[in-house]
Amino acid sequence: MLAAAVFPCLLATLHGPRAQAPAGQTREPEYRVLLASERVPPASRDAVLRLLPPALERIAPQFPGTPNAPFTVILHVDESSLDSESGRSLHRGTPGFARLDRDEIHLLLDKIRPQPPDDLATVLAHELTHVLLDQFAGPHGERVPRWLHEGLAQSLSGDLYLQAREVDLVVPAKFDRLHRLADLTNAFPDDEYERRLAYAQSFSFVEWLVRARGMAVIREGVRLATHKDGFVGGYARTTNEPILVEYDRWQTWLREESGASWRFMLENSFSYVMIGAIVLAAFAGARAWRRDARARAKLEREAAADAEDPTQPSDEPDEDPR
Ligand SMILES: [Zn+2]
Repeated sequence: MLAAAVFPCLLATLHGPRAQAPAGQTREPEYRVLLASERVPPASRDAVLRLLPPALERIAPQFPGTPNAPFTVILHVDESSLDSESGRSLHRGTPGFARLDRDEIHLLLDKIRPQPPDDLATVLAHELTHVLLDQFAGPHGERVPRWLHEGLAQSLSGDLYLQAREVDLVVPAKFDRLHRLADLTNAFPDDEYERRLAYAQSFSFVEWLVRARGMAVIREGVRLATHKDGFVGGYARTTNEPILVEYDRWQTWLREESGASWRFMLENSFSYVMIGAIVLAAFAGARAWRRDARARAKLEREAAADAEDPTQPSDEPDEDPR
């Protein structure tokens, strides 16, 4: 009923099952792509249908057994075709979001750009990761922290969200201004800068964790999550170590070994050159001023000497005093 109210012009395209169903049985389709209105160009649907199989092939093996329920990709020309509940899930300016309670991926075509990270392939892979991770987590899906969701979604889609970058973490890490992990469990900040920082932190920490521990350990942490203590509890049971110990190790790595500090220095070298040029110019200006002052003093001394000796004719022509 709600779906009918939400998408009054829904045009459905069903995609067939990936595997052959046994004879006499029809297998539920793995996914379908819907157009939220007739304004959505069919070419966009075709593009999504083309991009979905390789994205699934790449991401689903990270979450064995998924997709374990059909999911839906819904294409919107813009946010005007979102129902109010879905609209609340949308953060301004973002090209897509996943409604995990309904196994839905919503894509806003007016926010899709030709280049990553806001191109169709990257956004689709990002949202697909959210859906498959949630399906993998099963009944405790809502206890998978937001930082793990966003970290894996960015890592597996191959690009960072909101133009966030690891190098942007250097200064906050130096001044102990990174978000606490507990603050990124349920939601990300609304403030644009803090939000971008949250995405960059999630990406960097989760990529580090995958390198340090392996994806299998993270999966086991998700599998052993309970409603009571969530992924953090599941991870501790898997590794016998609290996730906060890993978080501290990551921060040390970020500050001392990641190379992000050097990248930060190199990226800002132009600013340093400018500052250097200004300082040099200031020194040069001071030298020139001192030189002028010395010349002025010399002239004044000579003029004073001339005034004391009136027998000496001046060989200077009369100057207009101006
Ligand atoms: Zn996301």
